[in-house]
Amino acid sequence: MLLTISTTATPATDLGFLLHKHPDRVQEFGQSFGTATVFYPESGEGRCTAALLLDVDPIALVRSRGKNSPDFSLSQYVNDRPYAASSLLAVALGDVFRTARAGRCKARPDLPGRPMPLVIGLPALPCRGGPELAARLFEPLGWAVEALAVPLDEGFPEWGDSRYVRLTLSGTVRLADALNHLYVLLPVLDDGKHYWIAPDEVDKLVRAGEGWLYGHPERGLIMRRYLGRRWALARTALARLAELGDETEEQLEPAVDEDAAAGETAADEAAAAEAEAQGDVPEVKPKALNVRRREAVLETLEEIGATSVIDLGCGQGELVGAMLARPRFARVAGMDVSAMALTIAARKLKLDRMPDSKRARLTLFQGALTYTDKRLSGYDAAVLMEVIEHVDPPRLAALERVVFGHARPQHVLVTTPNIEYNPRYEFLTGLRHRDHRFEWTRAEFAAWASRVADDYGYQVTFKPVGDDDPEVGPPTQMGVFTR
Ligand code: SAH
Repeated sequence: MLLTISTTATPATDLGFLLHKHPDRVQEFGQSFGTATVFYPESGEGRCTAALLLDVDPIALVRSRGKNSPDFSLSQYVNDRPYAASSLLAVALGDVFRTARAGRCKARPDLPGRPMPLVIGLPALPCRGGPELAARLFEPLGWAVEALAVPLDEGFPEWGDSRYVRLTLSGTVRLADALNHLYVLLPVLDDGKHYWIAPDEVDKLVRAGEGWLYGHPERGLIMRRYLGRRWALARTALARLAELGDETEEQLEPAVDEDAAAGETAADEAAAAEAEAQGDVPEVKPKALNVRRREAVLETLEEIGATSVIDLGCGQGELVGAMLARPRFARVAGMDVSAMALTIAARKLKLDRMPDSKRARLTLFQGALTYTDKRLSGYDAAVLMEVIEHVDPPRLAALERVVFGHARPQHVLVTTPNIEYNPRYEFLTGLRHRDHRFEWTRAEFAAWASRVADDYGYQVTFKPVGDDDPEVGPPTQMGVFTR
C-alpha cells in the first residue's frame, strides 16, 4: 500500500519539517500488523515528495487481534490487505504522522498554519461507491479530485472495473488538515473497518474531524461508515463536534423566536425518528456549549456595563461578531496570535462589506498575549474565552502580567473548561482539545484566579456556564475580575 504526498511550496523541503521526517533518511515504524516505511522519492527546493509504504503482514494482522475481534476465517490470510490503501493505511498514517496531524512543528511554528500546494496520490484505494463517492467526499474540503476506476484486468477490459480507484487529490490545504481528511476518509471509502469499533473511535473521529466534519455535506455518511453504523456513537460524535464550535455562519444570526423554534424541534424529532428507522443518522441540534458560553459572556459584559471590550484570543471572531451586533458596545477589538484565525474571522464578519459605521467600531489585530502591548489598553473589559488553557503553564505568568498588570482593564472575564466535567462526555479520553496544555478542576481555577486577583489588585467572582451538574459542576467555568 502506498501513499504519496507532494508539494511545490517554496522551499518544498518544508514538507520534511512538517512531517517530522527527514528527507534524507528512510525510516521504518513497526505497526502491530506490519511495517510502515517513510521515504522521499524526491526532495528538491522546487518539489518534494514523501511516500508512506505500508507492508502488511497478514499473519501479524491475525495475531494482533484481540479475543473479541471478528473472525474472517480464510479471508484472514488471503485478502487484499497488502496491496490496497485501506483503513490500515489510515491507522499507520495516524500513528507515523501524529505530530503533523496535530498541526505542531517546534522547529518552524509558523509552518503548520499555512495552506500549501499539495498533491496526494493513492494508486489503489478500495472505494465502495466508486470514483463519484471519492469526489463527493473530498471536493467539499477544497480538493480537486481525479479518481479513475482500476480495471479488474487490463488484458480483459470486458471484465469491467474492480472496486479500486486510483485517486489523486490536488489542492492548497494545510498539511495537518490534509492528513486528517485522509485519516477519516480512507476507512470511510473502504467501508470495511479491519478492527473492532472501540469506544475511543468516537474520540478519534471528533479530534480528526474538528474544523471540517461538522459542516461537511456528507457528514451523515462519513460518520455512519466510520463508526461501523452504530447510531448511538454517531450521534455522540455529532453532538461533540457541535460543541467544539465548528458552527456554520447561520448560527451567528440572531436567534429565531422561541415558539417557532419549539415547533421546529418537535418536527425535527419526528424526522429524526423516521431517519433513524431508515438507517440515517438523525440531525442533532443541541444548544452547543460554545453558544451558551458566548451568551454567558455577553450577559456578564452587559451586567458590568462595559461599552468597550477587547476579546483576547478571539479565534474566528464569533464573540466579536455578536458584540458588533449589539449597539451598546461602542468599541470592540479582537486580537489573536493566529493569522489564519484572523483571516477566517475577517471573512465570517464580512469585513470587506461591513458598513462604515460598524467598521469604525471594530479593531482586529494580530498579537501575542505573552508580550506587553499598548494596543491592549483602553478598554472597559477584556475577555479571555477558552484561551488560557492554550498557553503553556510556564508562560501563564507572562500572560497575567500583560493582561492584569499592563493592560489593566476595569474588568477581565476568563472562561476555561472544568476538567471535573469531562467524564460526562461519553467516550472522551484525555483533554477536550488537542491543543489544550491543561484543564483545571474548579478548585484549581479558583486558586489560580484568587492568586492573580491578589497579586494585581482585583476582586474575583465565579459563574458556572452550561448545566451545573450537582456532582462535577458545569462544563465551563468563568471568573469575573473587577478592579
Ligand atoms: N476565544 C475564542 C477562541 C478560543 S481558541 C472562542 O472562545 O471561540 C484559543 C485561541 O487563543 C486561538 O484562536 C489561539 O490562536 C489563541 N491563542 C493561543 N495562545 C495565544 C497567545 N499567546 N496570544 C494570543 N492568542 C493566543
